[in-house]
Amino acid sequence: MLGKEHTYVGECLASGYVSSVGSFTKRFEDQLAGMTGSRHAVGCSSGTAALHVSLRLAGAEPGRLVAVSDFTFIASANAVSYTGADLLLVDSEPQTWNMNSELLFDHVVENARLGRRIPDIVEVVHVLGHPAFMEPLIELRDRFGIKLVEDAAEALGAKWTSKAGDRIDVGSTGTAGCFSFNGNKIVTSGSGGMIVTDDEFFAERARHLINQAKSPSGGYEHDTIGYNYRLTNLHAALGLAQLERLDAIVRSKWEIARHYEKMLGGLAMSMAPRANWAAPTYWLYSVLLPAGCKELDEVVRGMASSGVETRRLWPPLHTQPPYARTPRLGGDVSEEIYAHGISLPSSVDLTEDHQGVVVAALERVIV
Ligand SMILES: *Cc1c(COP(=O)(O)O)cnc(C)c1O
Repeated sequence: MLGKEHTYVGECLASGYVSSVGSFTKRFEDQLAGMTGSRHAVGCSSGTAALHVSLRLAGAEPGRLVAVSDFTFIASANAVSYTGADLLLVDSEPQTWNMNSELLFDHVVENARLGRRIPDIVEVVHVLGHPAFMEPLIELRDRFGIKLVEDAAEALGAKWTSKAGDRIDVGSTGTAGCFSFNGNKIVTSGSGGMIVTDDEFFAERARHLINQAKSPSGGYEHDTIGYNYRLTNLHAALGLAQLERLDAIVRSKWEIARHYEKMLGGLAMSMAPRANWAAPTYWLYSVLLPAGCKELDEVVRGMASSGVETRRLWPPLHTQPPYARTPRLGGDVSEEIYAHGISLPSSVDLTEDHQGVVVAALERVIV
């Protein structure tokens, strides 16, 4: 922890306001709103909580349909399930590993023409810090009134360039953008999340729902079923100190990516995705190992015995018991990514020497 983490957490403790009252939550919210060019930000107890509330406010409920990436961390889909809405899993596209938004676009246009069911909401995930291809989804919103909710939990600081040439922050396009500050994310508050939105009413309702839908009068009156999803001042103190250094953190991730790319050049593998319209953050630098190399679990074990921690990626949601019967669009791209993908050490304090050790071990282990 190199920034003001100790100072802010110390100030927070000294103030006595460690829970739902205090100045750090608002400062943290204002900082993220500013950084993403959003009018409002609402701190939550987790990224999952931020998604749950955002989906509910975007209209997710029993009888509604939400399209979600098949290849993502399961929290993306669970947040939909909490609302009682139905899911449609959308396969990845090979260029960025994100939801194939062109495939979804064609599906919606065709279904609309035939008078069949189309999604009410698209929850688009920016997987592993790489922005998803948003333009087809924006067109779906404009033509069919489909709401967009961005799961930007892994992609804080990532940007994409529109066809018109605008540089756009992930999380700022949808009705709501959701971030996570869990321990493993690019910036952490210990545990926490945030919703960003330009819609004042949406922000107000979100603030209401995360506080047990308690009436502003101060009494115990509640107009709907809310949640205990507030972000504490203590978590926000830590999160704010980290967020203030986001640029430096993202720069280190880029350096790590650049070194891996240089060192891995000689090995036959696909590097982490990077579309030419995207500025990803390389949250976890992940590669696809060549077909025909050693079995992936064995690679992970072999790396571990060389003292290097690597991880496989997420099994596609449709292969997990809770979502095994969920309708799905597309082919086997997400399965291919799972079959060949591993994440390499990517923490910001990784040195170039240690990256050399990682690559040398990989060279030995995969054959
Ligand atoms: C981490 C993560 C979440 C959930 O965030 P938490 O703060 O852990 O609840 C949601 N979606 C994705 C894609 C994530 O990686």
